[in-house]
Amino acid sequence: MKRNDAAIAADNEKFTQENAINSENILTNPDKYDIINIEVQNIGESNVKIGDTDGTTTITDIRPIDFYDEAAIMKEIEDFCAKYAYADVEYALEIAPTGKAYNLTGIKGEVHSEIIGNDALNGSISIHNHPVEIGKNKGDSFSIKDLRFATENNLGKQYLVSGNRRDAFEFINEHTFDEISTAWKKAYNKVSENHWNNETEIAFEQEETLRELHKYLKGFKFYENF
Ligand SMILES: [Zn+2]
Repeated sequence: MKRNDAAIAADNEKFTQENAINSENILTNPDKYDIINIEVQNIGESNVKIGDTDGTTTITDIRPIDFYDEAAIMKEIEDFCAKYAYADVEYALEIAPTGKAYNLTGIKGEVHSEIIGNDALNGSISIHNHPVEIGKNKGDSFSIKDLRFATENNLGKQYLVSGNRRDAFEFINEHTFDEISTAWKKAYNKVSENHWNNETEIAFEQEETLRELHKYLKGFKFYENF
């Protein structure tokens, strides 16, 4: 059951106040973590098929997978990284609790996972890539749009590859997009302030913001180098 937004907001406000006092609980780079850590409700079938397209994103493959086989899922994620780390358009792999894996091909700057339908997305574990600029070894991390998509579709753990960047995140708590947006701004301001104090420049805006975000957003976990 989704709690109402006011109850979620009150709970998260309390967290922000408490956490302001004790904000240095670093969550990045854990030695290991569980891949399947989500309560999946209302598992939904999708009747999409290979070749379906919305004009910018096309479903290129659909195949069966055991959603509860961690090794099988990690193999899919690793295969995706090997293929698309330096791809020049965005690709996505959605692994749904229904036991199906969907490969999607997008364009530079976006891939629309919603093409497989909200029911199939519910609880899904996903990976997508961010294209890397020529001459660079990695692009930036997840965007606020990626976080919005995850929270609005109740997604499971989200992975990203961009050159030699390999990041992941998950939401342990529910949030409205307003809360995510407010927390993102606070985290970004903190990043800017730190750079100002140290007389340094922001290198990767999204990555640096994500590293601070857990201080302002209860239950947000960001992982680097999965
Ligand atoms: Zn993205």
